[in-house]
Order: sequence, then structure tokens, then C-alpha cells
Amino acid sequence: MKLKRLREQARVLDPRNGFAQALSEVEVRIDPLTGARARINISRTSRPKQALKRAEEGAPQKCPFCPENIERETPKFPPDLVPEGRIRSGGATIFPNLFPLSGVHAICAFTPAHKLDIDSFTTEELLDGLACCRKLFEAGEMWGLRSHFLGWNHLPPAGASLLHPHFQALVTEKALLGPASLFETSETYARREGMCYWSELTEVEMGSARFIGETPGFTWLAPWAPMGAYEVNGIGRKSSLLTLNAEEMRGLASGITKVLAGLWSLGVTSVNMGLYSMPRDEGEGSFRVQVRIMGRPSGAISDRALLELYGGEVGVTTLPEEYAKSMKERF
Ligand SMILES: [Zn+2]
Repeated sequence: MKLKRLREQARVLDPRNGFAQALSEVEVRIDPLTGARARINISRTSRPKQALKRAEEGAPQKCPFCPENIERETPKFPPDLVPEGRIRSGGATIFPNLFPLSGVHAICAFTPAHKLDIDSFTTEELLDGLACCRKLFEAGEMWGLRSHFLGWNHLPPAGASLLHPHFQALVTEKALLGPASLFETSETYARREGMCYWSELTEVEMGSARFIGETPGFTWLAPWAPMGAYEVNGIGRKSSLLTLNAEEMRGLASGITKVLAGLWSLGVTSVNMGLYSMPRDEGEGSFRVQVRIMGRPSGAISDRALLELYGGEVGVTTLPEEYAKSMKERF
């Protein structure tokens, strides 16, 4: 595995300094597995931006995901799919999305509490949500839909239209393109190198400045080439969410909780999360179930711009080694 980086230099005449020439360093990091590129320029952190503030507290009058409305206002699965209409696990409830993007596209309101600050989520709440989505994925297996994807858009900067914290769970015949490509690349690597990229990665990174910590069944790392701000990956030991034991499920939930608290202390209020998990009994020699979490903008400026949307690369402002240091304190 080669951790490759290129360096580029930008020369500008800086109006803040009488148009004197200024040099900007850009570090281009290449993901050792996928070839994805992250462009890091730490001076971008000093761009003017809106001040951070706590998300407004208190539920709006008619939040459909709050306990007093959820029964009345959220859809149910047809009885031939889910006899009870909705699936529950602890305080979490999963129900179909009214505005789906796939045949089975569900919403999991993972806590009855209408709370928004990411440092306030507990391991118990995250665990309820993960377990609830897993129940749907297991039902999907019985419907002949073996692939699944679990994600989270938290707050509008991350693409959420409703504020009440909720996961999204998709159950599909074939994996979504992003995960499918990662599964495939991992398999190609395993065939070529004779070992699992992910177990090699967690070993290699164990002593590095990007190592954050461990929870039962998961290793938490800042990726070499992040795909978004303050990205953290939690890498498991098995290939599928569906084969994790109770301790590993809790290890996944507690790791996410710690990462959220760490992100909050870095000033992040809005996050995206994606869980990459293979169908049961697939990819054991080549893939590890993994969760990826990134911070999204807190002000009015989007972090997805021409480079990300049309250039196919990502621009970030903080070295993974830097934020890994402060994240480590949470583990
Ligand atoms: Zn609510």
C-alpha cells in the first residue's frame, strides 16, 4: 500500500498585502485503494465565514417524527411486507419514506427526542437506530433484496429537510453505485495482493498520526485522503452489518457517538454519514463493514462546488493528522 501525495504551489498577488506575491501550498493526496483525490489547503480555514452557533432547540409544532405525531403522520409498510406497519427497536422507529428514491427507502427516526446538537446523542440512541435499520435489512433478505445502505443527513446543510434526527435506509436488489464500486475495488485488491486491503490498512495506520481509537469490533481512523471536512472512518472486522454480534453493534454505536462529540468540539454542527455494508456472507476475505462520517458547512457556503461536482476531486482545509489528534481525546 502506497500513501502517495503530490504538492502543488499557487502564486497570487495578494490584495490584502499591497498585491505582493503570496505562495499557497496545496497537498494532493491520493487514496491508496480507489485513487480518489483530496486537495488540502490549510489556509482555506481562514476564509471569512459565518459564526457557529448552537442549533435552535425545541420541536416545531408539527414535527411528524416526534412521538405525539409519528403514529398519525408517518406512512406504514404494506402488511405483506411488514405486518405491524412499522418496525421498532428501543426508541427507534422505521417507516417508509413518503418521497422515496428507491423501491424500499425507509426513514428511521432513531430517537423520540427532537434534539439537534450532535454532542447530545447517546450510544443507546445510535444503537437503537442501527438495530432498527438492521431489522429492516433482515426483512429485505426475505423479500429477495440482499443489498442495503444506511445513511444520515443531519440538518439542512447536509441535505436534511426535516430536523428531527433520522437515518435513511435503502434496501435494494443490487448495491448502490458508490458502495458497489468500493466492494469491487476491494475485491480486486484482495485478488491482486492476496490480502484484505482493510485489515492491512488498520494494521498500517495503527501507529500513525491518523489513528483515532478503537471500540469493540471497530478501528477509527482519519483517512489519508478525506472525502469531506473532518472525515472519520470506522472500520469493522466483518464484511456486513448483518453479521455483527451485540458487542460489535454497540462498538459501532459508541464509536459514532464519540466521533459526533469530537466533531462538535471542532465546531461542526451538521454531518453526513454513510454505512458501507455487504450482503450477508459476501466479501469476507476482501471487505470490512465501515461507517464514514464527515462534517458539513455551518454557514451559508456550500462545501460541494465545481471541484467536487464536476472535477471529481475534493477540496478540504484541515490535515487529517491535525483533527485526528483532537478526536483521539474522545476515545
Ligand atoms: Zn421531532
